Amino acid sequence: MTDTGIVSETQADAIAEVSGLTVGGRRLAVLDRARIYACGITPYDVTHLGHAATFVWVDALARTLRLLGVEPEICRNVTDVDDVLDAAAHRAGEPYDSFAAVQQYYFDRDMAALSVRAVQYEPRARRYVHQVIRLCSGLLAAGAAYARQGSVYFRGEPAVDRSGLDVGTALRLSAEYGGRPDDAAKDDPLDVAVWQADEPGHPAWESPWGRGRPGWHAECAAMALSIFGTGVDVHAGGADLRFPHHAYHAAMAEAFNGVRPYARAWLHPGTVRVEGAKMAKSSGNLVLVRDLVDDHPAAAVRLMILDRPWGEDWDYRPALLDRAEKRVEDLYRAAGRPSTARAPVAEIGRLLATDLNVTAAIDVGIEEGGAAARSVTATLGLS
Ligand SMILES: [Zn+2]
Repeated sequence: MTDTGIVSETQADAIAEVSGLTVGGRRLAVLDRARIYACGITPYDVTHLGHAATFVWVDALARTLRLLGVEPEICRNVTDVDDVLDAAAHRAGEPYDSFAAVQQYYFDRDMAALSVRAVQYEPRARRYVHQVIRLCSGLLAAGAAYARQGSVYFRGEPAVDRSGLDVGTALRLSAEYGGRPDDAAKDDPLDVAVWQADEPGHPAWESPWGRGRPGWHAECAAMALSIFGTGVDVHAGGADLRFPHHAYHAAMAEAFNGVRPYARAWLHPGTVRVEGAKMAKSSGNLVLVRDLVDDHPAAAVRLMILDRPWGEDWDYRPALLDRAEKRVEDLYRAAGRPSTARAPVAEIGRLLATDLNVTAAIDVGIEEGGAAARSVTATLGLS
């Protein structure tokens, strides 16, 4: 292709000239497959817009890779061994695994409603307990962990270093996300359990250190390494998972296998807020996917999520959904125009490959119409 916009014979040729992808400003050269690990749900509650936003962005990344001729392999785990899940199942008076299975059904239904394609791998934490035990052994052998009072603790220093956080902030976040900084058995408050000694009210398995259960970060690290080997091309998850979860996951993976970096790029979609507050059941401000897709076209909900820079936090307002609905209608109307110009199609490929610039790609689609509008509609799953 030249600067004058003269294009190749076919759309595929035009797209093929888009050279690679950037994610988070990082150029990600990929040949024919890309490994994407997305931190999935803890199946203890219905899917709200904040959860959905992460998985819609992962889906948009996967679709963009396919547009570029790269096959995405997505692993989206299910954290069905988790203290929060245990507590929710206990309140409901149900065993944690059947409680989780029901919540998982609702999640799958909501994802399908939002046209999020099925993923290739969906490991469940409770099926990877033995891999966590092997991870413990490897971390102990590498000197990155120590066994104490039936637990195995990972030394947190590398995870805190990579986060760039000051110790006070790291401690606050660690406490908030179940890191138990006040556990007296640990050498350092920022060490975390790879294996947690058994406690009442939680499932337990046998291990060389006694009965217990896997730690949260170790579960994800064990699933990612089991499925993808030494590392991933993109690791995705909500922005609030940056620390401690992702920092510890990556530090454990690197300490275990010595391959750095564990992830070539990170996709942390921004937090969805309601009137400035993070969506949380305890705040009573959950916006549920089910309610949104009951009242609006699913394509509008999808576009509302995607029509913005992915890394920015944003406030949900009903007016945004109305605006997205109008954008989708504009796009459909533009798709009916007869234009078959190739240059705008290639331009859309370039924009999506440049840090998933959906807003600019949609603008080109609406402005140019015809093949361009049809291309962006199909690529982003908005039809
Ligand atoms: Zn995870």
